[in-house]
Amino acid sequence: MTGTGSPLPDAHRAGPSQLVVVNGRGFLIDCGRGCLMRLAAAGMAPAGLDHLLITHLHSDHVCDVNDLITTRWITGFPALPLPMIGPVGTQQFIDDTLTMLAPDIGWRIDHHEDITSSPEVSVSEVEAGVVFEDHEVRIIAAPTEHKPVHPTVAYRIEAEGAAVVLAGDTVPCPALDDLCAGADVYVQTVVREDIISAIPLQRLKDVLDYHSSVADAAKTAQRTGVSTLVLNHCVPAPPAGTESEWVDLAAEHFDGEILLPDDLDRIPVGD
Ligand SMILES: [Zn+2]
Ligand SMILES: [Zn+2]
Repeated sequence: MTGTGSPLPDAHRAGPSQLVVVNGRGFLIDCGRGCLMRLAAAGMAPAGLDHLLITHLHSDHVCDVNDLITTRWITGFPALPLPMIGPVGTQQFIDDTLTMLAPDIGWRIDHHEDITSSPEVSVSEVEAGVVFEDHEVRIIAAPTEHKPVHPTVAYRIEAEGAAVVLAGDTVPCPALDDLCAGADVYVQTVVREDIISAIPLQRLKDVLDYHSSVADAAKTAQRTGVSTLVLNHCVPAPPAGTESEWVDLAAEHFDGEILLPDDLDRIPVGD
């Protein structure tokens, strides 16, 4: 878990991102605040990342993409293009990011004799179905519901006979159910409806209608037969020692394993 936080800055939780490691290959899902510090702690060099996958272009999920692009570029010998998968709109986001980075890119090319070209990102914009497959990994995408943010996608990563679903920000929906079916691990953004609805702040209440509540996530997990539900991107962030409240709420609707991890927790999948 390279970032278990939400848009709200937190001293202990980086912004949303997860690193799925298959046989030493790193698949990074989302790239929120502080992601590269957590990648360093997890021992995954940006230059060695296999793929970056983005669930949607909300700022909390992509705000460190520029850092990843620059750091991969200046620490690669040579810098390889970054393979990136995301919803429609990702190419425009990357074009805009590279425009923002243009002065820095120019200075580094001027200064380092061995850096002669700009960083490259190979973007695949996806909607549904198999979006990547090779001899050991298959990645499937499905559209999710996070309106007015649109389009948004969730991913299922299959390898070594196991499957992990990274749902991102979404309310329950049929396409997500199909993606989750029988998965070993299902990681879901969750909000606490009971806490948020009691806070007299409309801007906070606004988040309820486009996220899964803890009960929603648990019901999705139960309905689709996943083994482990991972509660993530918790809003509001649970004060230390109260994580079990969230797990207990989920357990009312799901009888599998329920986790609420901290940053840098590792979740073993499969055998
Ligand atoms: Zn979002
Ligand atoms: Zn979010």
